[in-house]
Amino acid sequence: MTDTAISTGTDESVADFTMRARAWLAENMPRIDPDNPPFSVRAEEKSWERARHLQKRLYQGGFAGICFPRAYGGLGLDQAYQKAFNAECRCYEMPLILNTPSFTICGATILDMGSEEQKRARISAAIRGDEVLCQLLSEPSGGSDLAGVLTRADRVGDKWIINGAKTWSTSAFAADYGLMLARTDWTVPKHEGLTMFLVPLNAAGITMRRITEVNGNEEFCEEFFDGLELGDDAVVGAVNDGWTVATRQLHHERRAVGGGSEFASGTGAENANEMPPDHVGLAAATGQLDDPLVQNLAGRALVRRTVKSQLIDHVSASIANGSLPPNAGTLIRLFHAETTELEIDTALAISGTAGVVDEGSGLLDIGVRYLSRQTGSLGGGSSEMARNVIGERVLGFPREAAADRGMPFNQVKRGRT
Ligand SMILES: Cc1cc2nc3c(=O)[nH]c(=O)nc-3n(C[C@H](O)[C@H](O)[C@H](O)COP(=O)(O)OP(=O)(O)OC[C@H]3O[C@@H](n4cnc5c(N)ncnc54)[C@H](O)[C@@H]3O)c2cc1C
Repeated sequence: MTDTAISTGTDESVADFTMRARAWLAENMPRIDPDNPPFSVRAEEKSWERARHLQKRLYQGGFAGICFPRAYGGLGLDQAYQKAFNAECRCYEMPLILNTPSFTICGATILDMGSEEQKRARISAAIRGDEVLCQLLSEPSGGSDLAGVLTRADRVGDKWIINGAKTWSTSAFAADYGLMLARTDWTVPKHEGLTMFLVPLNAAGITMRRITEVNGNEEFCEEFFDGLELGDDAVVGAVNDGWTVATRQLHHERRAVGGGSEFASGTGAENANEMPPDHVGLAAATGQLDDPLVQNLAGRALVRRTVKSQLIDHVSASIANGSLPPNAGTLIRLFHAETTELEIDTALAISGTAGVVDEGSGLLDIGVRYLSRQTGSLGGGSSEMARNVIGERVLGFPREAAADRGMPFNQVKRGRT
């Protein structure tokens, strides 16, 4: 492969950039065989090694971190260049599993809220393919009430001592650092006593375990913190202002989950079980191509997919030009969850018994995907919470009642107390 450091200035037009990317991709990235697309299982270490390797290639070729600033290892270009690159790289194997949460959520949040040192160290290491980032937010006691986290960070001398537990951390086993929200002041209302930390996941005092999901995957992890020691350099943003950081992180997550982030390191042939199902192919495989009912079902799903893609463009552009508030990213995330469910429900309806009984047709995967079809309506906050955000922060409806509003956190009743 060519290993030249390509200097990319903003004086290069999108068209010229596209031509250069096309030539570089053809020479340097593995072309996908459409009959045998790569299948990277997110729960397997080797998939992450492969992704890091591909990311390193992108970096060496000068096509990594297109929308991240040059000071932190990126190219400092706007979204038009990333979109052009995405269109070119579809036929090539790309390090897609690094996109979420590493680049689109954690990298984007550190860029907005991190210290200069954190940005220089962590963002550039991720862009180089050396490090992966994850999020440590949800806890066994609940994820929707994120400001109610119970993991504690106590000041002892010049250190922070962390005790508590996190759960549902996507790909944490493959990550090097995690953004972790902890409570640093229990005497103030819940949103005011939180601090975000950047945690090195190989530190002493962290025990990590894999969680087995309903479909057999083990991508999620839970972490237990027992006296983990962190310095002030691990604090992201200001002490007791972690809610500002978390809010920004959730903003990036909502956009990323729906596919609206400019920080994704390319797009392309996703894993078969992350791609929208091929409804026409399923109709053909089950001999129903001429059935008007099946045509109707497949057409409805196709329309939804098209509307989703246009909604992403519309909302992203409206947030960028200020005509919609940043919280409108939640519209993308909600529509994405609903579209995914419709797509998979439709696939199962067309597959019929072949999707649930192994008849040798190869359609059993549809049934397995159905088992986890609702992950999109939980990850990044549940769809109910998304509706609350749209109602309260986009449409301006009154806030829902909360018994703990304004109350010092150590006086809030929890569990059986
Ligand atoms: C694919 C996936 C990836 C994830 N990745 C991560 C990750 O990387 N890091 C991480 O920290 N977490 C992650 N999570 C966890 C996720 O953030 C939580 O599942 C989510 O926030 C919901 O929290 P919970 O599961 O504890 O449900 P709970 O908060 O216990 O909620 C239970 C139910 O009550 C409803 N509910 C709760 N409060 C309200 C309310 N005020 N109004 C209306 N309805 C309400 C919820 O919608 C839900 O249906 C992931 C989850 C999934 C599915």
